[in-house]
Amino acid sequence: MKTSFDIAVFQGDGIGPEIMAPTTALLSELATQGGYGLTFTDAPAGAAHYRETGESFPPASMAAARAADAILLSAMGLPDVRYPDGTEISPQIDLRKALTLFAGVRPVTIRPGQPTPLALKGGQSVDFVLIRESTEGLFYTQGRGEVQADEARETLRITRAISEPLFRFAFDLAKSRKASGQGPGKVTCVDKANVFRAFAFFREMFDAEAAHHPEIAADHAYVDATALWMVEKPWAFDVMVTENMFGDILSDLGAGLMGGLGLAPSADIGADHAVFQPCHGSAPDIAGQGVANPMAMILSAAMMLDWLGGRHGVPAMQADAARLRAAVDGVVAEGRVLTRDLGGSAGTAEVAAAVREALA
Ligand code: ATP
Repeated sequence: MKTSFDIAVFQGDGIGPEIMAPTTALLSELATQGGYGLTFTDAPAGAAHYRETGESFPPASMAAARAADAILLSAMGLPDVRYPDGTEISPQIDLRKALTLFAGVRPVTIRPGQPTPLALKGGQSVDFVLIRESTEGLFYTQGRGEVQADEARETLRITRAISEPLFRFAFDLAKSRKASGQGPGKVTCVDKANVFRAFAFFREMFDAEAAHHPEIAADHAYVDATALWMVEKPWAFDVMVTENMFGDILSDLGAGLMGGLGLAPSADIGADHAVFQPCHGSAPDIAGQGVANPMAMILSAAMMLDWLGGRHGVPAMQADAARLRAAVDGVVAEGRVLTRDLGGSAGTAEVAAAVREALA
């Protein structure tokens, strides 16, 4: 059984290195105690690297990502550093395409003490996962749309090759959540099948996959109604799966429900590779001040432990993922050591130390 793993680490730009350092330190400690191995390989890339070297994503960093068992990424891109054509530097998108990371996994969890705009009544909690297809859909012609004098076109593409493994992933996730007592075991297909034939095709493939999982409930929702229900009754969802653009929009709504980006982790998962990174960007406005919230990065690392542990059959890693999440929950619920985005005044290092203490 494999118990030692190579992790490619993209420290990134802005607050990236500030939130990555305490995260890998926590992971190293957990690995030592848990009897498994994590080796971190630094993979330079991003806007600052481009400014210094003229290269945004060196081939050696891509090779490190391909060779790794998993990829940890903080945030990349800076508003004032761009390619000559004016587009932003975002190696994370190149990575998603190159490694066919079709499942964008965005957990939406509202913990006690979290500053949500929802008026939750006592006992009501929110814990669902949005899966955003991340390689095709309305992003298929990204950067290649046709623009003429009086007309512009983009193409929405839905394929069987991507949709089938996407839906399989969604049902497997619902199954493992149910097994760990995290959800009732339900997958909702979010589409617009009443208007577009491509979404009827999407739904048909979803239903075919659902038939293989009789122990998991399956239903459908139109994307506009889903936006409403995410605000009105978010506790009704368990796992939802949707097209790229719908997922792009709904995942920001999810982050809004969570009271902002500081606690929103994510994973981009394919058949052979996965990238784990917070939903937020490089936050250049607060970079270098030691005040960034490291919790979304730490929760993304917990998702990595879960994924690696599940894939390679190392229960200690999955147990540590749960411990990391519980430690963050504890610090948020206590409310004593929080960064400014969560209404506190602590710095990155203090919050990381509080999480470490809660782990102990
Ligand atoms: P991108 O387009 O690269 O995703 P963005 O425009 O969404 O980036 P972010 O970099 O995520 O912007 O920052 C949005 C706001 O949230 C900023 O005010 C930033 O300071 C704040 N923010 C983002 N991440 C954190 C964090 N980890 N801790 C504290 N504040 C954060």
